[in-house]
Amino acid sequence: MPKKSFAGFSNEEDELYLRIHAFEPFSQSNGPGIRAVIWTQGCPLGCPGCFNPETHPSEGGNLIAVSQLVERILYLRPYIEGITLSGGEPLVQLPAVIKLLERIRTESTLSVVCFTGYTWKEVQRMPRSTELLALLDVLLTGRYTPKKLSNLPFAAHKRVHFLTSRYTKADFANIPAAEVWIEQDGGITVTGTAGVQLG
Ligand code: SF4
Repeated sequence: MPKKSFAGFSNEEDELYLRIHAFEPFSQSNGPGIRAVIWTQGCPLGCPGCFNPETHPSEGGNLIAVSQLVERILYLRPYIEGITLSGGEPLVQLPAVIKLLERIRTESTLSVVCFTGYTWKEVQRMPRSTELLALLDVLLTGRYTPKKLSNLPFAAHKRVHFLTSRYTKADFANIPAAEVWIEQDGGITVTGTAGVQLG
C-alpha cells in the first residue's frame, strides 16, 4: 500500500502515485486541439464559487501509479495533441506531477498545459518550480473569480504564461468554453473553463 502523504505517494519500489478526480481522454475544451485531461484530487485554496468542490478533499478520488497513467496517455498518442492538468490543484502533488511530465516529455511529443489556482509568484516560490516550469508549454495561473468569467473567452479568469514557442494566444482564441458528455451510465458531465460537474 502507498504511504499516506499528500505531496505524492511512494511505496517500497519508489513508485509515485497521483490522486486523481477524473480522466478524460478526448477533450476539446481544456486547451488547444484534442487533449487528454487529468483532473487531480485535492485543493486547499477554497476559491469562492468554485465549480468543482468535490475535488477539494485530499482523501477523495483515486490513486493511480504514475507509470500506469503514463501508459494510458502514451496509448492515446495517435489521437491527441497533448495533455492538460487541471483540478483540484495539481501543484499540491508536485513530485508525482513532475515525474509524470518528465516521462511524457521523454517518451512523446505531446504538449503540456497546466491549470493552477496559485498565482505566478506563488508558483515561482515553490520548491522544484524551475523543474516544473521547464516541463510545461503553457501554465494558466490564479484563483477562480466567477464575476470575471461570464461571457468572456477561454480561461479569462486566468493569467496565461507561454513557456515554450509551441503555442501562442491565437491557439487559445477559439477553444469552446464548455463541452458536454453523455456517459454510458446516462450521467451528464459538462467541462471546460465554464464547466460544472452535473453527475
Ligand atoms: S483552485 Fe480551482 S479547484 Fe481549487 S478552489 Fe479554486 S477553482 Fe476550485
